[in-house]
Amino acid sequence: MQLKSIKELKNLKGKKVLLRLAYDVPLEAKGTGWVVADIRRITETIPTIKYLLKQQCGLVILSWLDRPGGKIVEKYRMDPVAKALSKILKKPVRKLDDCIGPKVFSEIKNLKPGKILMLENSRFYPEEEKNNRRFAKLLVHGLDLVVFDAFAQSHRIHASTVGILELLPAYAGFLMVKELKALSLVCQRPKKPLVLVMGGAKITDKVAVLQQLIKIADKVLIGGGIANIFLKALSVPIGSSFVQDELINSAGWKKINSVRVAKKIYKLNKDKVILPVDFLAGNKIDGHSLIEVVNISKKEVIDRRWKFLDIGPDTISEFVSVISKAGTIFWNGPMGVFEIDKFGLGTKKIAQAISKSKAITVAGGGDTEAAVIKYKLGGKFSHLSTGGGASLVFVSGKELPVLKYLTK
Ligand code: AMP
Repeated sequence: MQLKSIKELKNLKGKKVLLRLAYDVPLEAKGTGWVVADIRRITETIPTIKYLLKQQCGLVILSWLDRPGGKIVEKYRMDPVAKALSKILKKPVRKLDDCIGPKVFSEIKNLKPGKILMLENSRFYPEEEKNNRRFAKLLVHGLDLVVFDAFAQSHRIHASTVGILELLPAYAGFLMVKELKALSLVCQRPKKPLVLVMGGAKITDKVAVLQQLIKIADKVLIGGGIANIFLKALSVPIGSSFVQDELINSAGWKKINSVRVAKKIYKLNKDKVILPVDFLAGNKIDGHSLIEVVNISKKEVIDRRWKFLDIGPDTISEFVSVISKAGTIFWNGPMGVFEIDKFGLGTKKIAQAISKSKAITVAGGGDTEAAVIKYKLGGKFSHLSTGGGASLVFVSGKELPVLKYLTK
């Protein structure tokens, strides 16, 4: 697979570029408004932006932010993102209050080379997630080409992903190139053994891709919420632990039973799947919770009102030992509710072990990244992906829907 890179483009001077970026950033309250809580998704796109500005393009930035559900939600306006970008670039970024319509078209018409506009959150329109063609046509109005650098949103079939790519000549930005190169090290001839570390709470999504991922892995360490579904599949009591057991596929018609999928994965891959032998259980999800180690390999049983909220000490030792022997490690999802320090030890120890390992280490996902930052391990991984879902889809061998339009 060879991407069409923006480097190959000649005569960009004066072109109006629809620059598709994944600015789905975490926000935090400040005063009466919101500010960007973590700017990495922005800083990672700066090389592409600077390159296009140097070539004298006019830039129109498009992204969605969170899940406003097809209507205007004040919190999810792009204003804090435009402010943060402007501060990083030391340059004005003119934020518009819509992403289509006459006002937007007139701003694009008057856009001068070297200037930047940022459109409003595309998910304020229900047409976005439906990949509505008419909406996509309005998004590209007055523009010459698309530069796609929204890796973290590249696994979705939306109007602002495949919709716009169908309509204009399209090229990949530098972040796309960097992400795909790093993730290819995991899925194409990885240095063996390849160890996957899976955790987190998006159980149904992850169980579905794990079916594919496990084929290339030598060992899969399972913690976090996703471990609960495996315990359920093996009829181990999980008390009131978090589970999601039914996935409706993206077309909305097929139900996938995660417990059944987990059972199948386990049955076919007993030599690869390593489940926790013990957990830290709590009676509630806060810092005042009572806690207790429940060792399921010693047949200890969780109280039916309690929850598994982290992996236990014996599991940490076992996981660390497997990690120390890996050639390549792909980590997606925390081992417990690490946001609460009481339930953070498993995630911290596993993150530290991965960062110390001599293997190729790739981590992805918003919360995984938050854990890396919390434990001050940034810079200690071979690659920290900006996209959790997208990296899982790519590594599992499924083609990202946008790639059809961005490859030679
Ligand atoms: P994900 O986006 O799938 O990586 O999920 C991240 C979230 O999973 C974090 O907010 C964690 O608090 C949460 N999480 C991890 N382990 C558990 C668990 N055992 N029970 C409930 N939530 C969990």
